[in-house]
Amino acid sequence: MGSSDALTRRLLYRCVPSPLSLWERAGVRKAMPVWVSRWLLALCLLGCLGTMPVLSSAETWQEKTSTHFRVFYQQNLAFATAVLEYAEAYYRQIRLDLGLTHVVQRDQVAWLWDKRCQIYLYTDRQAYRQATGAPLWSGGFVNYQRRMVYSYLGASSFLEQILPHELAHIVFREFVGFDNGRIPRWLDEGVAQYAEVGRR
Ligand SMILES: [Zn+2]
Repeated sequence: MGSSDALTRRLLYRCVPSPLSLWERAGVRKAMPVWVSRWLLALCLLGCLGTMPVLSSAETWQEKTSTHFRVFYQQNLAFATAVLEYAEAYYRQIRLDLGLTHVVQRDQVAWLWDKRCQIYLYTDRQAYRQATGAPLWSGGFVNYQRRMVYSYLGASSFLEQILPHELAHIVFREFVGFDNGRIPRWLDEGVAQYAEVGRR
């Protein structure tokens, strides 16, 4: 199986209701105790998909950019502007917290110009779910390697939790390696949760 297949398979784990059964079915690791799988599921309320969402819409996407981010939105310029400011602040803080400000990161290409992280904000939950196929409980998801974050206007705690959570996943994975099988999911998830405001 190629590495892209492995990546897609790994990302798909995160958007299904039972990681335990999928792990078992894929045969990539031993089943964990039920209480552990439930705990992990409770921790990660954010879905991650391996496929690209459908971006076409009756409304056109508009864009705002900063040094490290591009925010695509269809409504609410003020919110898109706030997202950009929060994203830059979280990016700095996450790198600081992980001690990554002065190291050359393994898989990292600088988050500049066309390599900036892209954040797509759909107009509402229905449009987001229609485009992405995300489950009902998902408030956002991330594509690590493409540096893309998807969510929608009105997603609960987007600025405080979803945004820093997903950015931390990207920064951490870029440092440890996208296909690094020695990094357990709980560590990846713990780093992401640590970045959320109010979690510490
Ligand atoms: Zn997560």
